[in-house]
Amino acid sequence: MLLTITWRGHNTTDLSFLLFKNPYRPQKFELGYGDAYVFYPELSDEKTTAALLLDINPVNLARGKEGSSAAGLFDYVNDRPYVSSSFMSVAISSVFRTAMTGRADDHQELSDTPLDLEAAITMLPCRGDSAMLNRVFEPLGYYVRFETFLTDEKFPDWGESKYVNLTIRGKILLRDLIKHIYILIPVFDRQKHYWVGNDEVEKLLRNAGDWLSNHPEKSFITSRYLIRLSPLVNNAIAKMAAAADENVIDEEEDAADPAETEKIEKKLNLNAKRLGSVVAALKNCKARSVIDIGCGEGNLLRFLVREKQFERVTGADVSSLALTRAKEKLRIDEANDSLREKVSIFQSSLLYKDIRFKGYDAACVIEVIEHLDTARLSAFERVLFEFTKPRYVILTTPNKEYNVKYENIDENKLRHGNHRFEWTRDEFQTWARKIADQYGYTVKFSGIGEIDDELGASTQMGVFTLC
Ligand code: SAH
Repeated sequence: MLLTITWRGHNTTDLSFLLFKNPYRPQKFELGYGDAYVFYPELSDEKTTAALLLDINPVNLARGKEGSSAAGLFDYVNDRPYVSSSFMSVAISSVFRTAMTGRADDHQELSDTPLDLEAAITMLPCRGDSAMLNRVFEPLGYYVRFETFLTDEKFPDWGESKYVNLTIRGKILLRDLIKHIYILIPVFDRQKHYWVGNDEVEKLLRNAGDWLSNHPEKSFITSRYLIRLSPLVNNAIAKMAAAADENVIDEEEDAADPAETEKIEKKLNLNAKRLGSVVAALKNCKARSVIDIGCGEGNLLRFLVREKQFERVTGADVSSLALTRAKEKLRIDEANDSLREKVSIFQSSLLYKDIRFKGYDAACVIEVIEHLDTARLSAFERVLFEFTKPRYVILTTPNKEYNVKYENIDENKLRHGNHRFEWTRDEFQTWARKIADQYGYTVKFSGIGEIDDELGASTQMGVFTLC
């Protein structure tokens, strides 16, 4: 069975450093149930492919060695040597163990950079589940392709086989790509060759904790990974929820005690100016329905509900605590029917497609993108500009150049502990223009707050209009 990982870009032979595998010498690894080989079918500056070939020994499977099921004939006659299964996952974790941790010594910066990576997984058993391939891999930021086959070309009536050749491509950290494949192969294959117990819950949380807890197919993935053993599935879901709550509380503490940012911004009362500018932009584009994604405690929503022009106003945020505060501040529970009809709030992440984001004239994403890992930005871009596709998008983010004006921010520091990055005007505009071109929008920029001739304004805003 074959897994290939391809990197397209510059100096791509450095993939070998991230994988800790010499490209000039094919290597063999003896595993209990067969042998794994690593080699590079393609090696050039622009494109490098690493291959992991797994040669399962069917005799070992049958003779009570590792991987045998002691199930009589099954051990002799089965698809295991020819498909991507939990055997492949075990091989991945043995052969690419260091790459999965992301440690890369002299090449750490490269390891921490999302790369244009493609993985091809041959003969993935996927009986009747091929639609799930999109639903599982796309939210993780991949373009998904798969090839299906007839069970037997001589007997077309037998229909399609249960196997697919799957290719996923995205801009992603190598370690995340490997972890996704490692966890998700057995989700589709469903036949684990080893005993599934509590260790398996820990393994799932260790390798998927950060990307699974908000995944729209979390239940499907968890349940399949833990072969539908309810106590294990419940345990895993509960642990993920507890971890997510801790994160939300962190976020909430940041929101409740915005000491750094607010102290700094107080002088200019930047928040109010920002919301004023967003409302003005919404009025300018005559939006009647607005969704505020990453609405936090609902500051913008409170502005919008007061204005007649906005007939439908919705807030969404990943943090349930922020939403509870938003509801309190908007006094939704005590509101009259007309207000209730106008406003709604729901919990969701802008990294995953959500049908509820659709159907609004305008979407606002105010001071949110800087909270996202850069590796997840492309998922956000696709969710908002490709899937949701509102007529207008209004997006704001801090202008890093302006930070020197704030006494409390040291050079090269970010405005807020929770920010993952902050952009200069040039960085923001380059990103926004690329998105606009890619998804058929035009974009106009403006600054919010006092404008410094050299540094620009404290907040930068982009208004995207669908062509
Ligand atoms: N737009 C609000 C809040 C900004 S703070 C305002 O201007 O006041 C950033 C908000 O983004 C937080 O409420 C946080 O919970 C939310 N957020 C962070 N990651 C998110 C995600 N993946 N999906 C949705 N909201 C997210």
